[in-house]
Amino acid sequence: MTGALPHSHVVVLSGAGISAESGIRTFRGGGGLWHDFRIEDVATPDAWRRDPEKVLAFYNARRRQLYSVEPNAGHRALAELEKDFAVTIITQNIDNLHERAGSTNVLHLHGELDKARSTADESLVYELGGKDICLGDTCELGGQLRPHVVWFGERVPELERAEDIVRRADVLLVVGTSLSVYPAANLAFLAPSHARKILVNPEIPDTVGLEAFECLGEPAAQALPRVVEELRNR
Ligand code: NAD
Repeated sequence: MTGALPHSHVVVLSGAGISAESGIRTFRGGGGLWHDFRIEDVATPDAWRRDPEKVLAFYNARRRQLYSVEPNAGHRALAELEKDFAVTIITQNIDNLHERAGSTNVLHLHGELDKARSTADESLVYELGGKDICLGDTCELGGQLRPHVVWFGERVPELERAEDIVRRADVLLVVGTSLSVYPAANLAFLAPSHARKILVNPEIPDTVGLEAFECLGEPAAQALPRVVEELRNR
């Protein structure tokens, strides 16, 4: 790998692929969740209005699985980066594997599986600690609780903050994302021209604009320990 300039702020943009080797299924691709579930049935505001019980069951099952899996070598390597750099992880993932690996600065663009939010007041957010959300579980205002996730068709409240962070990157690592869910995918292309840009994905996405990236066609748990070691030893 070549072309690095002095760098101090490492920004990581991660997607479902980084958690695949921990046993959490990605959404697309072979074995993806959307082969078994339809987005329109479980991950949209309409689905919630139509059949909240089904939506809750979908997320309750994901949450239970979260506690049966562990961070992998990819998550752990990124946590190591904090020893030498200011690191911000912007993740599309709703799992908590970056935090459990030791990363301390994680921005969840699409929310967090292990939190619930009030439907009466979206500023009321609660830790679930692995518990299910059931119909009839309410906030202190009496509003039904829903998963604290961003559904398809909803706005992404953290997007502007994420854009500002990427614009200040000296190194951008894009890991395990198909770059097909917008507006998150646009973030990959906002880093300044001086920034070193590295992409890790066993199936390099066919996306315009990736010419500026060093593309590593490998699984994250294999590539990231090497990438991180190289960055730290420069
Ligand atoms: P995606 O499912 O669209 O794409 C996953 C990408 O990861 C693919 O390009 C695939 O080639 C790649 N990949 C598969 N195995 C990999 C590995 N071992 N190492 C590196 N890359 C690997 O996921 P996305 O781009 O994150 O977008 C989908 C949406 O799905 C996001 O909004 C996210 O919120 C949600 N999601 C989250 C989780 C989670 O929290 N773990 C899981 C599934 C989906």
